[in-house]
Amino acid sequence: MFDWKTEATELIRTADPHRAGEPIYLIPACKARRFVTLPANVAGFTSLALAYRLRPLLDWQGWGFCTVLHLGAFRRVLHLLAAALHEYAHHVCGVAEVGMVADWLGHPAADCYLRLEQTWTAETRPPHPRPACVPNPAEPPWHHHDARFRRIAVHLAHRLRFAWPGDVADIIHQDYGLASTLAYRSVLGHEPQARQSEPLAAIAASPAPPAFEEFAAWDAERAAAALNPRGSFPGGGPSAGPQGDFAEKTAFRKILGK
Ligand SMILES: [Zn+2]
Repeated sequence: MFDWKTEATELIRTADPHRAGEPIYLIPACKARRFVTLPANVAGFTSLALAYRLRPLLDWQGWGFCTVLHLGAFRRVLHLLAAALHEYAHHVCGVAEVGMVADWLGHPAADCYLRLEQTWTAETRPPHPRPACVPNPAEPPWHHHDARFRRIAVHLAHRLRFAWPGDVADIIHQDYGLASTLAYRSVLGHEPQARQSEPLAAIAASPAPPAFEEFAAWDAERAAAALNPRGSFPGGGPSAGPQGDFAEKTAFRKILGK
């Protein structure tokens, strides 16, 4: 009988064996209802302090990756596993970001996790509607799914290319108004191969290749400019329309020197 928790855990361990000493907690939303409430349109979420919050539900083995998933939101097992990987990419980015701050402050990372409860990440239940148009540039639709997240998702997909039939697009699962996953994967170049034996959090904490940084900065600027003050995208959608495609290809060629 298929055991999605075992499958997802094996994928995560395969992709990031350096965190093998940390537990992985995969929780169906119905079991977490006493402690967290999933909004109707949310398929899954994670936070660095989630395991600690849910410890009465868990066989607590210490800090680790924890995600709550709304199993009814996934029509295919592939999508459920992709969601677990998506949440793991958030976890890796969070570990890297908080790790850098914790090192600088000289605090244990776990202290920082507890203080960062506001870093909850909510996901949209598939099938995915267009991201909400958010006129406030401080919180764009790609909030939490920006360049660092995309970079780690590309690494995850690369490391699992022989173990899982999905792709990086399944892990990212929505464009959030940014350029295609293919663009991000291409502009990252050979980094996934060159650094495939390193911990993912170390990669997330390190500077990306300059071409990737440049492309990501350009893309975020382009996407932000596409938001008009009334909160809707000109041209019918964040990635729709020939102008957007043309601009993306032009910038892409420039970066690649083609
Ligand atoms: Zn997400």
